[in-house]
Amino acid sequence: MTATELESTATFAGQPVQSQFIAGEWREGRSERVLTDTNPFDDTVVATIRQASKEDLDDAYRAAEAAQAQWAATAPAERAAVLRRAAQILEDRREEIVRWLVAESGSTVIKANAEISLAAGITQEAASFPTRVHGRIFDSNTPNREMRVYKRPVGVVGVISPWNFPLHLSQRSVAPALALGNAVVIKPASDTPVCGGLLIARIFEEAGLPAGVLSVVVGAGSEIGDDFVAHPVPRLISFTGSTPVGQKVGTVATGGRYLKKVALELGGNAPLVVLDDADLDTAVSEAVTGAFLHSGQICMSVNRIIVQAPVYDEFVSRFADAVRAVPFGDPAREDTLVGPVVNDSQLSGLQDKIAGARQAGARVLVGDEISGRVVPPHVFADVTADMEIAREEIFGPMVAVLRADDEAHALALANDHEFGLSSAVFTQDLDRGLQFAQQIKAGMTFINERTVQDEAHVAFGGERNSGLGRFNGEWAIEEFTTDHTIGVTRLV
Ligand code: NAD
Repeated sequence: MTATELESTATFAGQPVQSQFIAGEWREGRSERVLTDTNPFDDTVVATIRQASKEDLDDAYRAAEAAQAQWAATAPAERAAVLRRAAQILEDRREEIVRWLVAESGSTVIKANAEISLAAGITQEAASFPTRVHGRIFDSNTPNREMRVYKRPVGVVGVISPWNFPLHLSQRSVAPALALGNAVVIKPASDTPVCGGLLIARIFEEAGLPAGVLSVVVGAGSEIGDDFVAHPVPRLISFTGSTPVGQKVGTVATGGRYLKKVALELGGNAPLVVLDDADLDTAVSEAVTGAFLHSGQICMSVNRIIVQAPVYDEFVSRFADAVRAVPFGDPAREDTLVGPVVNDSQLSGLQDKIAGARQAGARVLVGDEISGRVVPPHVFADVTADMEIAREEIFGPMVAVLRADDEAHALALANDHEFGLSSAVFTQDLDRGLQFAQQIKAGMTFINERTVQDEAHVAFGGERNSGLGRFNGEWAIEEFTTDHTIGVTRLV
């Protein structure tokens, strides 16, 4: 396909979003490969993009390197103003972004609106970073000397994002990195090149970010993935995605010729624990949204519901009734909670999980037939900790319910996992809830709430194989800066 055959049809704010964005220019990629970006619900083509080659990637990183120092030297108020304008554009163009998220990623309208609010929230929060970041001065043990620790941008940041919350999961790295004086190159996921990158480029272009400070390369992981990480320019790779790919990215980033920092936000398998004194109405409704929002394709989605024996039967019966009422199907309908899964490979993985759970002896309480890529909500009861449906990250509209003999058993089941991202416990006794929460091995635990939570000013991240590092607020300031110690000796 030639460049003219790729004439633009995909637009945002009246401008094409169907090419690479490198060094402030919208231009064709130089790879032989062309990406056909389709709507997961109806297979219509939403964009056609010639992909980036290694040369394009090099151009993007070199431009970022060239532009970074001047951007870092830009007054804090000016950097903050760019971020505030970007946040405003996200709000002003909300309807158009909702349409893009629905069309490109199979987001429901409910989820798309939530995602835009999250992206606008972190952008607003990041607008405060230029005036919050500061160094420190320490007394020295050596006379006539003081020890100054300056906080600096890391330099150039490479951002790799997944397809499930493409806009927010790119923006939660991009906005803090830019606010703190870094330059950024984004590699969005192949299923969501527009929402995960090209829309963001248009937004920052409109917000007045200088050319070169942000580039977007749309390319295949297999063609440019390793180079994106191993390239000599980026000093930090901020990766959000699956644990196996994150482990590989971490190895390439720290095991090659050029050592670099990594921030890894990876997979999860969130337990939601219902203790015997829980308010069951609250537990049921929070478990439903926690398991099925965005068809369960969220790293924090409830995968395992662990219920203490005395309330197990009652909970399971009420939960199954509530799940049977969950609207699923066309994501563009205002009330749909479960839309399509993103692609055929996700679909076939979920089909295998359903077959595997049945074969292993799980009781299927809810589970209609799959239609197209829409997998109706599934609930498996009487699941045991050794079954695959409990061990693997589900990343689809399915949930496993496990029975716990007592509170200690519930805790052991919750912690019996390689992951440790989000978690929840339900009890009417807050002291009991807090004691339980403190023993869960996870980066985040919520008492009497679902596991899917994110506030722009509060630490977000996981333990164990769920990742390294934290997003949001002061934690993002740490992540996207580095320290430079300067000893100052007075000559007396
Ligand atoms: P993925 O790991 O398959 O892909 C993530 C990104 O990595 C994509 O942009 C992909 O193109 C890129 N990539 C693939 N191979 C690469 C390579 N060799 N080098 C560099 N980049 C490469 O993940 P996904 O399927 O897009 O997303 C789903 C996963 O993401 C789930 O496991 C989910 O739990 C996780 N996730 C985690 C968080 C979090 O905050 N912890 C948030 C959302 C999603």
